[in-house]
Amino acid sequence: MIIDLRSDTITKPTQGMLDAMLSAKVGDDVYKEDPTVNALEERIAKMFGKKSALFFPTGSMANQAAIKLHTNPGEQVICDKYAHIYNYEGGGASFNSGVSCKLIDGHRGMFTVKQVVESINPPDFYHSPLTSLVAVENTTNKGGGACWDFEEIKKIRTVCNEHNLGYHLDGARLWNALVNTNETAFQYGEVFDTISVCLSKGLGCPIGSVLVGDENIMKGAIRIRKIFGGGMRQVGYLAAAGLYALDHHIDRLKQDHNKAKEIGEVLGSLSQIKTVEPIETNIIIFELDAGVSETEFVQKLAANNIHIIGMGSGKLRIVTHLDYTDAMHEKLLSIFANL
Ligand SMILES: *Cc1c(COP(=O)(O)O)cnc(C)c1O
Repeated sequence: MIIDLRSDTITKPTQGMLDAMLSAKVGDDVYKEDPTVNALEERIAKMFGKKSALFFPTGSMANQAAIKLHTNPGEQVICDKYAHIYNYEGGGASFNSGVSCKLIDGHRGMFTVKQVVESINPPDFYHSPLTSLVAVENTTNKGGGACWDFEEIKKIRTVCNEHNLGYHLDGARLWNALVNTNETAFQYGEVFDTISVCLSKGLGCPIGSVLVGDENIMKGAIRIRKIFGGGMRQVGYLAAAGLYALDHHIDRLKQDHNKAKEIGEVLGSLSQIKTVEPIETNIIIFELDAGVSETEFVQKLAANNIHIIGMGSGKLRIVTHLDYTDAMHEKLLSIFANL
């Protein structure tokens, strides 16, 4: 039994999902003739109370398209220093949109409205880049699956209005946040101009993200997706996986969160571990004691068929997901308890 907790991206389609994929009706989505993709886009748009949604192969492409929609070359995006759009999208913001990022020194990937206000460059001061977009991530990946305070998100909206800034949510794991906080997709749709959500994080889908937004901003999205090489043909087979995941794999995320908390408790009791960051959803970030070698620790777990990854600066990460079964959980807890 291999216990792979490196990421929630490793999940595979269940039999039910495969059946749904195989029986999907498809067409050429570049001509917008794929009924299953259209159904997925309509469904997600409706969930968020938005007019428009577009299916993307990856979350990175959906985020990059959003940045492109909101900015012009030379402008600046405000985001946290931990942001996925800054750290893990291959420098795409500068490559694709010619923008720079003003990094906020936030807490666990989250920041305050005050920090946003302080990061906005005065628009008539032509020496500095024009600020045009604020990007938030919920849950935060590098921040350990932390969930934003929705009140702060709303306050930042007000500032975006005052300063004529776009407001984008990287909601790769928004489903985890919604399940954890009992907030709704609709509430988020009311606040943000654009939102990207992933279907391939812990939901079993092999691929797929969706960008939702208001009609005026999204009308350029299909062209940008084409330019990025993301115009796809009979992808209803993949959209069918997404529809299946929305029906069957969202509510169960609670189980992943509970398992993560239980793992955190065991980790917290081990002498080799210095700190375990607070666990809200499915991500556990912890730091080893100064005397413990990270390589040795990871190898020892690997020898027990448990796979986790390093995050740099002495931090390690565990992510729970659909394919992490109850049996695996039992085994992992007992191995950890005896480390
Ligand atoms: C995974 C992830 C994405 C998108 O990643 P892809 O691998 O391109 O699908 C975007 N934002 C966050 C926070 C993520 O964790």
